[in-house]
This record gives sequence, C-alpha cells and structure tokens, in this order.
Amino acid sequence: MTIVMIDGAYGEGGGQILRTALGLSLVTGTAFCIDNIRAGRAKPGLLRQHLTAVLAATEIAQAEVSGAVLGSRHVTFRPHQVRPGAYTFSVGTAGNTTLVLQTILPALLRATAPSTLTLEGGTHNPYAPPFDFLVQAFLPLLQRLGAKVEATLERPGFYPAGGGKCQVQITPGTTWSPLELRMRGAIQDMQARAVVANLPRHIAERELAVLGRKLSWQGDWLQVESLHASSGPGNIVTLTITSAHVTEVCTGFGERGVAAEAVAQQVVQAARRYLATDVAVGEHLADQLLVPLAVTGGGTFTTLPPSSHTTTNIYVIERFLGHVVTAVPHSKDIWELTVRP
Ligand code: ATP
Repeated sequence: MTIVMIDGAYGEGGGQILRTALGLSLVTGTAFCIDNIRAGRAKPGLLRQHLTAVLAATEIAQAEVSGAVLGSRHVTFRPHQVRPGAYTFSVGTAGNTTLVLQTILPALLRATAPSTLTLEGGTHNPYAPPFDFLVQAFLPLLQRLGAKVEATLERPGFYPAGGGKCQVQITPGTTWSPLELRMRGAIQDMQARAVVANLPRHIAERELAVLGRKLSWQGDWLQVESLHASSGPGNIVTLTITSAHVTEVCTGFGERGVAAEAVAQQVVQAARRYLATDVAVGEHLADQLLVPLAVTGGGTFTTLPPSSHTTTNIYVIERFLGHVVTAVPHSKDIWELTVRP
C-alpha cells in the first residue's frame, strides 16, 4: 500500500505541513507518515490545536492513527471513507478552531452530503486566520468554486483564555468552476474595526486614531466594538478592504504588554503591503487557497511573493498530487499562482 513520507521540518517546520498532509490524505485516501513535527518551533511536537486537527481528521474518516498524543513528533495516518455529518471538535484551550477547520474542510467540500461542525476554542488567535478573515475573505471564494460554506460565531474566544464557539455548515459542491482572480478590481469599501472584549474602550480608540492618521482613513470607515460575551479579555483590529473581485482582511492582535499603537501599526503595515501592488490575493489567503483549489476546480490568482507557508503547502501538495501548482513571478512584488485541478 502506498504511504507518503513527509518531513515535518520542511520550510518553516510548523503546524501547516501536518494540517495540509491530513487534508490531502483525507481527500486522496492515501496514508502518510510525518516525522519531525513542528521541528522549527520553540516547543516542537503536537500542541492541542494540532492534536485536535489529527483527531478530527481521524474521526471523520475512521482513520487508523498512531502518535496522536500531545508532544508527539511522529504521526502515521491511514484514512478510510470520509463520512460527512454533524461533528463537535473542542480544542480545549485557546488553541485555534479555524485551523482545525482548515484541516478537514477540503475533504468535506467533496463529500457526498452536507456537514455541520461545532468548533470550540480560540476564534481570534495570533498567527492563525481570525474568524472575520474566514467569513469575509476565505469562504466567499469557496462559493465561487462551487461549494457553500457558512460560518456563525456564537461566542468569540481570544487568546489566551479561548472559550469561543462557532458553527460551520458545509454544503459540498457537485460541479466545480475554476477560480480566476488575476485582478483585484476597484476598491469599493474599506472598514476598520477595533474590537475590545472585557477591556477598556480607549484601547480601541487609540488603535483607530493610529489607523486614521497613518492610512488617512475617514471617520465613518472606523468603528469601535466592545464585547462582553467573551470568557477572557481580548483585542483585535481588522481592516476589511472590499474590491470588485475579492475581499482582503488584515488583522492586528492585541497582546498583554504590547501598546495599542503597536497593534495598530501591525495592521497598517499589512494593509500597506497589500495596497502597494494590485495583486488580488494577500499573503495569508494565498497559502490557504492552494489545497481547496487543488481538490476542486483549480484556478489562477495573483499574489504577493510566496510566504514560507505557501511554499510548504506546494511541497505537500506535490507529495500527494504531483506537480499541479506553478508559481511564476511577474515582478519582484507580484506573483501568479496556478493550480491545476
Ligand atoms: P505552529 O507553526 O506554531 O505550529 P500553527 O500550526 O498555529 O503554528 P502555522 O504553521 O504558523 O500555524 O500556520 C498558520 C496559518 O494561519 C497559515 O495558514 C496562515 O496563512 C494563517 N494566518 C496567520 N496569520 C493570519 C492572519 N493575520 N490572517 C489570516 N490568516 C493568518
């Protein structure tokens, strides 16, 4: 029986390589074995979020798995048939829920029936797609490919307390269309939201003051939101840039000991980088689109120079599907990625 061997130390040596391997193993039915899990990180091996992703993949495909314990640096995974349905996956800490979704979504997009997922844990974590990014930037593109995925936030969960909850309804596609995203198109709307949960409102106001000054954004593009339904304190700033053909969401994450102004500055830099070119797809969306495109209708998009997450995903996709992704630079700052279905 074929088994794909993956070196978890490849690229940034992070959690991405494991999630992508799980996702493609579920879709192709091919077993894999991964060593050196998260070798590039300060605390290597499976953390809660990664372990939950392994267990979620195991559950939906009745997989045979070894090494699925906290801290493990080696996992072997043999999937059986993917079973759509209603599932609840709880990360248990502020470990991120959207990355658990990223792992099993490709297989459920192609399943024979709809699925409903309840995900509990962090919904707004640094270094992961925040819920707002998922809903505004990522999911609408799946709809264009031919699947319908709707997510609702029942309770936000900010790092480090977590305790968030969201529901995701997945209606698989029956026929697929390629995604053609070479042009962003004219900007139609820009919104900045500074959210504080169980924290003083002035934090959000200071963040928006920086955005207004540095990006020259106008008053009605800037909103403060105070939340009280979250289990711990939290602060994020999101900039949503809606263009004719795509929406980009840039996020800054508040952290204890980091000034509100510095959090706003993170978002300013991300937005400036995106707006400095006319690429359609921003850095994070680029790596997240590759697997869904490869297992549905394929497509082409322009983006910023590939991040290490993007090159890592290309490596894993090649291990399972062969040479289906090409990445061509148009200039120093603009690349075009094509994924053959
Ligand atoms: P580790 O590497 O510590 O295991 P991890 O498993 O949480 O961490 P990474 O391997 O770093 O995660 O992958 C992070 C994923 O989150 C990537 O798909 C990346 O595009 C996405 N991401 C990170 N920051 C953002 C952001 N601000 N907006 C949208 N997506 C993001």
